[in-house]
Amino acid sequence: MRKPVIAGNWKLYKTKDEALALIEELAPLVAGVTNVEIVVAPVFTVIPTLVGALSGTGISLAAQDVFWEEEGAYTGEVSPRMLLDAGASHVIIGHSERRQYFGETDGTVNRKIKAALKGALVPIFCIGETLNSREAGETFKVLERQLKGGLEGLSETQFAPVIIAYEPVWAIGTGKVATDEQAQEAHAFIRGVVAELYGKNAADKVRILYGGSVKPENVKGLMSCPDIDGALVGGASLKGSSFASIVRFGE
Ligand code: PEP
Repeated sequence: MRKPVIAGNWKLYKTKDEALALIEELAPLVAGVTNVEIVVAPVFTVIPTLVGALSGTGISLAAQDVFWEEEGAYTGEVSPRMLLDAGASHVIIGHSERRQYFGETDGTVNRKIKAALKGALVPIFCIGETLNSREAGETFKVLERQLKGGLEGLSETQFAPVIIAYEPVWAIGTGKVATDEQAQEAHAFIRGVVAELYGKNAADKVRILYGGSVKPENVKGLMSCPDIDGALVGGASLKGSSFASIVRFGE
């Protein structure tokens, strides 16, 4: 059985005080939830602030990006070691906004995944096709390229902790959610590529999250699909009540 993961990507929102207020609202609403892994990803500067507030809540902390070197002359970067030191246990890697605005490629994503794993962080590895790719009938081709590129050189053992997030770019922040059928089809394909790379056992175990305009109203349908193991949530994670409803999708 794969334990579902519901992760909130707060993007470039929430100062320290705003983040603390959000956790104060969220924590009681998800208290007692043990059948779902809950993760929140604030901006770097807020991670240490939330460590105390999250203690005992069962909610884990993720960063939204990481660099691949441990230390050195790399102005502006943050390493896995420093994220762990700050209190993060997970890190989002290869989000489409990073690919689109910050020049991330399958190659840089691969270096970051390897560095995160070496630094004992759980990568939440994002992939997803653009609208152009989907309309050109290239969804599977893009997903396969991103998966194989991002995971290149990783052994089955190294791959084991990785969480994959399928986020069709056209559904992120647009209000246009993929249909349950579209999402399930992509997730099944992704699981198939993992089976090809690492075998059936690894494919059966890997958690594949859906991301793209997930809301309390659509999460149930998505989560009823056999290959969807959770959600990476942007906009709806910025309010305690909506994120808690998503976490409690099964109730
Ligand atoms: C995201 O940022 O990963 C995301 C899926 O955003 P939204 O839920 O707002 O579409």
